[in-house]
Amino acid sequence: MKNPSQIIKEIKQDLPLDVQLVAVSKFHPSSMIEDAYAGGQRLFGENHVQELQQKHEVLPKDIEWHFIGHLQTNKVKYIAPYVHLIHAVDTHKLLQEINKQAEKNNRIIDCLLELHIAQEETKYGFSVDELYNYVKQGEWKQLNNVRICGLMCMASNVEDEAQIASEFQKAEKLFNTIKKEFFTQQDYFTIRSWGMSDDYPIAVKYGSNMVRIGSKIFGPRVC
Ligand SMILES: *Cc1c(COP(=O)(O)O)cnc(C)c1O
Repeated sequence: MKNPSQIIKEIKQDLPLDVQLVAVSKFHPSSMIEDAYAGGQRLFGENHVQELQQKHEVLPKDIEWHFIGHLQTNKVKYIAPYVHLIHAVDTHKLLQEINKQAEKNNRIIDCLLELHIAQEETKYGFSVDELYNYVKQGEWKQLNNVRICGLMCMASNVEDEAQIASEFQKAEKLFNTIKKEFFTQQDYFTIRSWGMSDDYPIAVKYGSNMVRIGSKIFGPRVC
């Protein structure tokens, strides 16, 4: 069996240079993260606050921790001191809370808005229209301790590659539209976080510059 660090190396060889790889380590032990870290990987993604807390405590401090899952407002305070990027902001209320906790920690926290584009009903996130209108309405501009750095989405969990492609294409189009209309002054609005183990080659074709890959690197998750 290959080590996480070997698989990361292979994935990176095929990724365009401007695409960042977040290694999604949720449900995998710190020892596997250490192997990836030894190979040079620094960006890791987690989706449970408690698990992230435990790993952050024991692992090297120069890891960039990405929170990729649904985040409850009452848990923001735990990760606010160190989280590098929060991928799935889906309400103004959550962004306000992140701003408040960032201010308490005397820092600015980078965030992405989560676009709901997949057909699955249960997933969180703004629809295309909701996201456009939220950005347009502009309340976020009053929050000085957060930066909206881009968009994040997940495609439907289906075999049909044409469907997956059309979903990522919608995300790419929305990103370009709102960048041009509302983020011309914000040079940090650059991140397009889409693509996971099964669909990242398609995501990269449709504008992704940050892929979140878990099981392909670390194997099936042990819950
Ligand atoms: C788990 C997860 C991933 C990684 O999924 P894999 O299919 O294991 O690559 C990516 N993004 C989010 C939001 C996740 O929850």
